[in-house]
Amino acid sequence: MAASLMKTIGAGVLRAEHAGDTVTLAGWVARRRDHGGVIFIDLRDASGIVQVVLNPEDSPASEEVLHGLRSEYCVQVIGTVRPRPDGTSNEDLPTGDLEVVGELLNVLSPSAPLPFQIDERVDVDESKRLEFRYLDMRRTRMAENLKARSKAIGAMRRVMDRDGFLEVETPTLIASTPEGARDMLVPSRLRPGNFYALPQSPQLFKQLLMIGGVERYYQVAKCYRDEDFRADRQIEFTQLDFEGSFWGQDDVLEVLERIVSEVVMELRGETVEIPLRKMTYAEAMDRFGTDKPDLRFGMEIANLSEVFSDTEFKAFAGVLGADGGVWGINGGKLSLSRSGLDGLVSRAQDLGAKGLVWMVVEEDGTLRSPVAKFLSDEELEGIKTVLCAGTGDTLLIAADDVRVVGKVLGQLRLDIGQPDGNDELAFAFVVDFPVFDVAEDGSLSPAHHPFTNPGDVDVLVNSPEKAVSKAYDLVLNGSELGSGSVRIHDPDVQAKVFEVMGISAQDAESRFGWFLEALRYGTPPHAGFAIGIDRFVSILRDEPNIREIIPFPKTQTGADPLTGSPSRVDEEQLSELGIDIRPEVRARWVEEEDRADGEGAVET
Ligand code: ASP
Repeated sequence: MAASLMKTIGAGVLRAEHAGDTVTLAGWVARRRDHGGVIFIDLRDASGIVQVVLNPEDSPASEEVLHGLRSEYCVQVIGTVRPRPDGTSNEDLPTGDLEVVGELLNVLSPSAPLPFQIDERVDVDESKRLEFRYLDMRRTRMAENLKARSKAIGAMRRVMDRDGFLEVETPTLIASTPEGARDMLVPSRLRPGNFYALPQSPQLFKQLLMIGGVERYYQVAKCYRDEDFRADRQIEFTQLDFEGSFWGQDDVLEVLERIVSEVVMELRGETVEIPLRKMTYAEAMDRFGTDKPDLRFGMEIANLSEVFSDTEFKAFAGVLGADGGVWGINGGKLSLSRSGLDGLVSRAQDLGAKGLVWMVVEEDGTLRSPVAKFLSDEELEGIKTVLCAGTGDTLLIAADDVRVVGKVLGQLRLDIGQPDGNDELAFAFVVDFPVFDVAEDGSLSPAHHPFTNPGDVDVLVNSPEKAVSKAYDLVLNGSELGSGSVRIHDPDVQAKVFEVMGISAQDAESRFGWFLEALRYGTPPHAGFAIGIDRFVSILRDEPNIREIIPFPKTQTGADPLTGSPSRVDEEQLSELGIDIRPEVRARWVEEEDRADGEGAVET
């Protein structure tokens, strides 16, 4: 950090070689200790912490000021660096061998009593942390996360720059586009009754940039999706968005490899093994029951249907068919009690399975299980062979529709096997996604946005459930870091895809006529991707959710406890926008106010 008149050096960068230097520090009082009249403060700034010794006899400030110093006062200290006396070093601090003897102290700004201690070791409720985020970010965890985020974005920009990408900003007040989630809307004052949408991503603009001849585009882009909240979702989040012309899938994946390598090296100092693993969607679903497999451990789902092809066990025989079968995982040496095993069965049922069969391999090689007596010796041996079962292993078997089994065993695999505190990074590309997700009831919903190249158009039209698109994801430790695709560059194919996806020609024309028109002017083949920066950094920092990586996130209910958003606006603003709040919503406001009044009321 460059020096300023108020501050010549950062507290945390002082080292032994600075001994004897006169320095001007500025920061916050992290801790203050009084030792027989001499006051020690830990002075913290963005670079770290250093111990400052203030002796009233040397009058660095009036006695009153020195004794009035409290936590988080913002102060400036002029003083001399010296080694700490023998035996008083603090090995936990990079500056622990030295201290600054204060010759002058200025209180730049006192602090009100704090809502919580600025101390890593003190557990603070998240809503309090968010309400006082500016104090929370004085604590090491958030301070380090913000630095990591900045470094990660810096590393991404380096790669994009080296590869000749142009950074282009695209608008955030746009027309609504069909990207899968609900749009966030912004009413227009100049055209009352009309709305902008906030972009779910810059998808169509980056495609316009390709049509515009930009060839290589990137942006650190804010995206907005009005989705229900989950631990790793926010309505507002940030992507590294990029696109290239005259590109196919492999061109995109190579850029991604360079990006993840640079970011991981920057944040973790580790080399990522390139090329990254690649598997098809079908393989991921088969082996792990999910399109975002956690590859830090095995415990793969194995198909046992063959073993039971002639079974007399009704629960298994009944499901064998086109989409049904028997699958299992080897959970390893779980040593669960009977109630632990029953717990797995209820978990499987909660996840949608009709049941779950457990088996434990005994010392003598036999399988202990409530259903063992219904199975032939051959079947029991077959299970052991397919699941590579050894003594003590717990085997879990489910028989159902392939989608149900995938979901159930895929989740049990994570419940049982996901490593805790394993900081290995297991990246993988998942490619060849279907155009449509097929629900358990057979209904189709688009797996990606409708600008994705659907592969063979005949297959798309005649058997849409079998169509394989040119879409791919990047997965890290069981989380989807981002997705992308080769795009449609032929306006006729685009129109066809809208049609198959249930967007009528008329609707497509009125909503995306401008885009279909643009596609008609020599559109280059192009492809791209977007990485969720918040999620990527949260995994690299081993944080349980992306709120820890976002400077000012929303809570699970979409609220910001710091600024109070979302909030009501006054009647005049509403009327300018031509908006009437519906009576039932106003009635709810009144109820809420009454409730708040009731809670605040003091009994007399
Ligand atoms: N726009 C897409 C998304 O936000 C990513 C892409 O296809 O490039 O998921």
